Amino acid sequence: MKRLVILGGGESGVGAAILGKDKGMDVFLSDSGTLARHYADILRAENIPFEQGGHTEALILNADEVIKSPGIPPTAPLVEKLVANGIPVISEIEFAGRYTDAKMVCITGSNGKTTTTTLITHVLTSGGVDASPAGNVGRSLAWQVAREPHDVYVVELSSFQLENMYDFKANIAVLLNITPDHLDRYDFEMQNYVNAKFRIIRNMTPDDVFIYWQDDEVITRQLEQLHTEATRMTFGLACEENTAAYVNAENDMVINARHEPLAVPRADLALNGLHNLYNSMAAGISAQLLDIRNEDIRHALCDFEGVPHRLEYVATVDGVRWVNDSKATNVNSTWYALESMPAGRTTVLILGGKDKGNDYSEILPLVERKVKAIVAMGLHNEKIIDFFTGHVPEIVSTDSLDAAVAECRRLSAEGDTVLLSPCCASFDLFTSYVNRGDLFKDAVKSLSR
Ligand code: ADP
Repeated sequence: MKRLVILGGGESGVGAAILGKDKGMDVFLSDSGTLARHYADILRAENIPFEQGGHTEALILNADEVIKSPGIPPTAPLVEKLVANGIPVISEIEFAGRYTDAKMVCITGSNGKTTTTTLITHVLTSGGVDASPAGNVGRSLAWQVAREPHDVYVVELSSFQLENMYDFKANIAVLLNITPDHLDRYDFEMQNYVNAKFRIIRNMTPDDVFIYWQDDEVITRQLEQLHTEATRMTFGLACEENTAAYVNAENDMVINARHEPLAVPRADLALNGLHNLYNSMAAGISAQLLDIRNEDIRHALCDFEGVPHRLEYVATVDGVRWVNDSKATNVNSTWYALESMPAGRTTVLILGGKDKGNDYSEILPLVERKVKAIVAMGLHNEKIIDFFTGHVPEIVSTDSLDAAVAECRRLSAEGDTVLLSPCCASFDLFTSYVNRGDLFKDAVKSLSR
């Protein structure tokens, strides 16, 4: 009987354990931390042996194969030991992919993965396809393959997940963009991060389609050196050689991946902002490739309700719009958020949190054009204050959400927008970006009562 050991007992690890059990394997799950109660209960109910609070090597080094949670770095001593012992270490997606013939639409990139994954799923299901999201969105792929199979999976893939993928094949792969992120995990070598992202096109054949943003210099440079058999399709503002989605002279988004082109006025798209135009393009191309009718694609791209914490409109209070973009945890995503703000200095911007080595100069021109005040919210605001002082009319330092919201209210006037797009991770004052965004929305809603 094959011994399958799973490291990490979150959504993907528990899903993999269940799939392994259903396939008749001898499964053991080990987590160095504490499992969420919900997952521990599931493992007990399924009679799957597990340990938490540490790894017992004797129960792990006897594995035939190990599935590693994407959160565990390859440099973890236990992982290095497994590799040294010749034990294959794979990801949950790689494992699940072996047991399904479903079509795989895979999404990666530094920013926009969750939005695009959710949007593509919405367009496909609206068009009558039995599609379901997986990866970082919703239930794990392994659990779905084991217990609730679908015809198409739309899989969000982070670079961490891609690291341990080998034979998995995407039918459609979307690479949205590549900007520096998580470099601490890649020896501060951008090329290592780029290589991880490009694993998404491994094993693709000419029947498969690789969709990417044509204006991304990192992607195009990498493609010059790399061979792929996949059919290439790109999206961008201009119509170039392989462009399957672009903007025409009438300011329509045109999708031209197959058969009849589809033109949708940009103003009708449900998601606003340039970054979301790109996400809509990637979704439109994927949907045409999967034979969704143009009319269904049009409707779905226009009635999509968005994803919480990504440029999410919260409320208008005394003529001020409040927007929650708590998920913006790096400079590039805040750049896109600011880009989508109205012209003129009408934005009050909340920045701050745990800085992952940010270089704020990327957003400086937009801040100078659009931001009337910065409210720094965090335990270490010095860097933000130092960097932006002299570039915005007002800058204040706060160390709690309530204080930040009160300052934003004081600094904003009718017609302004207050934007929480912090550029930073949330872990100084909050448990997660979701917690930060939820508390922000509660605070804003209580202003209107
Ligand atoms: P991810 O899952 O890759 O972290 P999300 O869809 O959660 O991406 O969006 C994260 C942030 O990135 C949001 O704050 C959003 O404003 C920004 N964003 C979304 N799509 C893009 C894009 N195509 N390019 C750049 N930034 C984007």
